[in-house]
Amino acid sequence: MRGSYTTLRQAVERGEATFTQAVEEFLERIYRENPRLNALLEVYENEALEAARRWDKAVQEGAALPPLAGLVYVHKDNIAVANHRLGAASRILEGYISPFDATVIERLKAAGAICIGRANCDEFAMGSSNENSAYGPVQHPQLEGYVPGGSSGGSAAAAAAGFCHVALGSDTGGSIRQPAAFCGLYGLKPTYGHVSRYGLIAYASSFDQIGPIAAALEDLIAVHQTIAGFDPKDATTASVKPEPFSPDLPPPKRWAFLLPEGLHPQVETAVGALMRKLGEAGFFVEQVGFPYWDYLIPTYYILTTAEASSNLSRYDGVRYGYRTKNPATLEALYARSRSEGFGREVKRRILLGTFVLSAGYYEAYYTRAQKVRRLLYDYTETLFQQYDVIAMPTSATPPFRLGEKTQDPIQMYLSDLLTVYANLTGHPALQIPIGNFVGLQVMGPLFTENRLFSAAYAVATLDK
Ligand code: GLN
Repeated sequence: MRGSYTTLRQAVERGEATFTQAVEEFLERIYRENPRLNALLEVYENEALEAARRWDKAVQEGAALPPLAGLVYVHKDNIAVANHRLGAASRILEGYISPFDATVIERLKAAGAICIGRANCDEFAMGSSNENSAYGPVQHPQLEGYVPGGSSGGSAAAAAAGFCHVALGSDTGGSIRQPAAFCGLYGLKPTYGHVSRYGLIAYASSFDQIGPIAAALEDLIAVHQTIAGFDPKDATTASVKPEPFSPDLPPPKRWAFLLPEGLHPQVETAVGALMRKLGEAGFFVEQVGFPYWDYLIPTYYILTTAEASSNLSRYDGVRYGYRTKNPATLEALYARSRSEGFGREVKRRILLGTFVLSAGYYEAYYTRAQKVRRLLYDYTETLFQQYDVIAMPTSATPPFRLGEKTQDPIQMYLSDLLTVYANLTGHPALQIPIGNFVGLQVMGPLFTENRLFSAAYAVATLDK
């Protein structure tokens, strides 16, 4: 693993490194590798170097540094950075420049972190392989010809290729955790309402959360703790402050494992081995049946497409980005701008969402799905009365080949089986790499991110 931010910061404080050198090294790797990976859509070279020089100067002058001074990160193309392009990897936002910073960006800036670029992703964060981007797919950094996962595939590939310390992604149904698993990294989907969505392009608002992806757990934790907490600009944020974290906190003892049928042998073996080691190390480990596997994907796709069809109605060819040429009528301007601007998968979801919300079907689909969502939440809360964490693989398969699932949307949707669960219930979930591009995710009660971090430290110790 390349150096973490903590290591860099210590080296800078000892006078053995500078933030400018660190940024130059990141830039060098970006210019060498990004043409092959297509992970970043834009590089903020001048701004990043300027910020690094500013922090180096502060060091020379003996000034106090803010907590994340010189931490280098990238943002997914659906998180707004003032005066920069923002596109959700869609043609419909062609040419759009954000006039403001998302709250997470504002907080990272205030903490001294340096934004080095904008990461590719699936269009409007819809996808599991980063093949739905209007700007082309992203390559897996280590497995040639394979996908990095999605929808935050550019973010994960950037973190894995050493383009940054931390990458910001968004997770509606797994888009932080699954690509982090495919690329061998940590990835956190925070508790719903813990991180502000102000400045995040909405896909499904009652599911979306912004979170970090990183090779080093301590960097992920530092960024999460900086961006989390109440924001007056997002009424769905809770007034819960992230508690300080220490790796010495005792790890969770009682682990419930949920293992659906049909896991890829590589995943089954890795998770099985880990369960044994946890048991040998004195943890209480139990495999628990889960009665709702069959309901997760349908419920997720009914509710998220419903929300998406409403959220995406604002892209009308008038307000943002792309507008069709020479429309004959106002109606044609709307219809043609949307037909030409949105990609296939986005259109499929708008159609599906409009259908499930239509007068004759609303009760049959949308209302029922809401009821299932409630049931899942209640069931999960009862599990947390008996267990400290719920663990399961992050993805049922290791990374797949580019093009392998593009012809079959149902197969693509099924690959989200294990991750959509935590977004349906709102619980926090942390992806932990356990080798060979296989991931384990742990879920905890609401706002127990620190418990999940302790679990990750425990797993890392066992793996040594
Ligand atoms: N792959 C899932 C989907 O396509 C999740 C996407 C996400 O989390 N943004 O909806």
